[in-house]
Amino acid sequence: MAQNPSESEHPDLIPRCPECGEPARGTLEEVQGVALVIPDPETGKPHYAGETDIDWDSQQTVRREGKPVWVCACGHDWTADVIAE
Ligand SMILES: [Zn+2]
Repeated sequence: MAQNPSESEHPDLIPRCPECGEPARGTLEEVQGVALVIPDPETGKPHYAGETDIDWDSQQTVRREGKPVWVCACGHDWTADVIAE
């Protein structure tokens, strides 16, 4: 299988998973959203409407001890001193 050109030219720049050895798929991110509610017709209590408005401007890379968290295709996650630009 052909490698991504940037990966074959710079094989060590994308951090590799310490568990399975695969290159990182990306960084773990958190976003905020508002889960919409409507009043329950019988009780009036808040009831989830089934939709969430995601605020994509709130997206932030998850960090542990100051380092970004990376994720491989298998779903493993780990920290590395590499910053994606
Ligand atoms: Zn892995």
